[in-house]
Amino acid sequence: MRRLVTETQLNAAQLVLPLFVRAGRKIRRPIRAMPGVFQLSPDELLREAAVAVKAGVPAVLLFGIPEKKDARASGAYAANGIVQQTVRLLKKELPDLLVITDVCLCEYMEHGHCGIVQQAKSGAKILNDPTLKLLARTAASHAEAGANMVAPSDMMDGRVRAIREQLDQDGFTDTPVMSYAAKFASAFYGPFREAAESTPKFGDRRSYQMDAANAAEALREVALDIQEGSDIVMVKPALAYLDILYRVKSEFGYPTAAYAVSAEHAMVKAAAANGWIDERAVTLESLLAMRRAGADIIITYAAVDAARWLKE
Ligand SMILES: [Zn+2]
Repeated sequence: MRRLVTETQLNAAQLVLPLFVRAGRKIRRPIRAMPGVFQLSPDELLREAAVAVKAGVPAVLLFGIPEKKDARASGAYAANGIVQQTVRLLKKELPDLLVITDVCLCEYMEHGHCGIVQQAKSGAKILNDPTLKLLARTAASHAEAGANMVAPSDMMDGRVRAIREQLDQDGFTDTPVMSYAAKFASAFYGPFREAAESTPKFGDRRSYQMDAANAAEALREVALDIQEGSDIVMVKPALAYLDILYRVKSEFGYPTAAYAVSAEHAMVKAAAANGWIDERAVTLESLLAMRRAGADIIITYAAVDAARWLKE
């Protein structure tokens, strides 16, 4: 009876697994604050992706850790960059897996910021418009390698339009854009920065990411991304921002994604390791809450576990 009248469904088909790739072979480097999450060499990542597919997870979101960083983030758009290589490998070996790529420059910049930095007397400044060209180039190089969808996470103004135009110009008119539309400057990203080796060397990201206090501004950011051609809009983090998720979904009715970020994962894992919570029940309830709030798609480090639990 309860199943007949249930309002919200959670199933594996809605989940996306984030994966971190670095150069090498047979590398599985654990990330301290994210139990069960690793930096993987492409061969190991392929194995992990195959496990996800088998569990019923339809998609992965790829982050790259390059061998060297510079001031132009050249590793981000190199034709044979780490993400580009891995996309090719995944699409060859697991053609049915939906491969989404994170488009940002921070992992590839020596300073760890998401844009080009200009040092001035008054301090460092992120140069918004010159950054757009590099982001567009990065997205096009991912599409060229075979990515099914690109996901810009940088929060520069105008980047969705710049990426859309570049993709269209290069013939990738069918490659959709899932934009991190309302991405908050959040302490919940702490463990991720270790994972992606993208901690800024100076300053913080508050000049381009959203203030946690602002919900109306988040809606304006989402509206802009939609106008610029975003196909799916994302709210990040998820659990502490369910009100934003709800408002974004009700206001725009667009396909909406929620990113359950690294510290959300770390908190559940730590409490579970102490025997303080039931990991499975808490994880599934949190994911269900994101669905109830309006998420059509959930990006989560627990995707494979959740997919298996949902099958039982
Ligand atoms: Zn970034």
